[in-house]
Amino acid sequence: MSDIMKIIKEFPRECSCGRSHETAVGDIRIGRGLVHSVGEILRENGFPRKLLLVADRNTIKAAEGIEESLAGFEVERKIYDFIRVAEMHHVCELEKMIAGKDIGILSVGTGSVNDPCRLASARQKKKLCIFATAPSMDGFASDTSPIVLDGFKSSYAAKSPEVIIGDTKILASAPTELKSAGFGDMIAKYVGLVDWKISNILTGEVYCEKVASLTRSAVDELMKMAHLVTEKDEETAGKIFESLLKTGIAMSFMKNSRPASGSEHIVAHLIECVELRDGIIPNYHGHDVGVATLEMLKLYGEIAHGCKPRFTYENVDFDDVFEYYGNMRDDVYKANFPDNIVDGITPEMLDRSWDDIVGAIRSVPSYEECREAMVKAGCKITYSDIGKPRELIDNCIKYSPFMRRRLTLLRLRGMLGM
Ligand SMILES: [Zn+2]
Ligand SMILES: [Zn+2]
Repeated sequence: MSDIMKIIKEFPRECSCGRSHETAVGDIRIGRGLVHSVGEILRENGFPRKLLLVADRNTIKAAEGIEESLAGFEVERKIYDFIRVAEMHHVCELEKMIAGKDIGILSVGTGSVNDPCRLASARQKKKLCIFATAPSMDGFASDTSPIVLDGFKSSYAAKSPEVIIGDTKILASAPTELKSAGFGDMIAKYVGLVDWKISNILTGEVYCEKVASLTRSAVDELMKMAHLVTEKDEETAGKIFESLLKTGIAMSFMKNSRPASGSEHIVAHLIECVELRDGIIPNYHGHDVGVATLEMLKLYGEIAHGCKPRFTYENVDFDDVFEYYGNMRDDVYKANFPDNIVDGITPEMLDRSWDDIVGAIRSVPSYEECREAMVKAGCKITYSDIGKPRELIDNCIKYSPFMRRRLTLLRLRGMLGM
């Protein structure tokens, strides 16, 4: 059994945090040469004899040998040229191919190949296996799918795959750029953990020490391997993959993304929305997230090391916010009216909790430490590295906190006299 399956099996189901921690992921295999055993693993997991293999031209090439391993299965194939952005028409197309059949889906690739499969298989109630070709993001175990419809990217409730397979040889051979992106997506967890704790302190949102430490140990472990990320090293690639899976499992344990994403993911999400609206194809998720993470760590560090603020109530010019969001304004309205996430937070509460808030910020590695690790890991570091104008980054930092009903330290900025 892989380490991570052991963690899943041994994790307390009924936890002292009040949640029952469950995941639908039933089998995770990580190891060398597993590409040759995919058929066998699917059989062991009760997959039907018919399979729809979904991939793109790059990922099917990376997974060389996978089709030979499927002897005995009746395989239909859907090989896309290239999917950078998962769109609803991909989902519909796949649904048509599997509707009414006794068939399972084998998704070969990463995010944008897996996301339509996750939603199509959930809607048609089919089994899903993800065969990962790069350790590039943390969504493998996720039960939601980010999908673009009419130029808008939203997250749809989908399902976690029953089986996840990572062949370390293939993961290690993935383009360096993708491995570095995965590292950036992991460093983001430090900000996510801080935001989650702060929300727990101020709003009483459920916070689970056990789940938080699952994420924390996964990132800490990876930080130590930063210098190996760009190497074609199987052990490191396997570890990155495992860490990404651990944070994915942590999310399903909480049934939300708190253990793996904070203000930096919302900033990156808004960047992506604005770009999609302007017809620009977004970067790899982990690159934008990594840069947004450094921006947040710098800001959070300044807050923690500055003088104690003079706390005030939030005072936002929502007309200005809505103007920025343009045709996205309806969702932003719903997230803030008739009431919003900071309504219950008073300046007195902030004053009383300030030491704990600062403690939460200081509990994670600093901007400098994370930056150094990211440089070693070949990550993109600055907004110009990811090809964005400074103005776009500044606007997304300014406006993203209103996008969702979720408390982050970034959202509290207006109450800190900043
Ligand atoms: Zn718990
Ligand atoms: Zn992410």
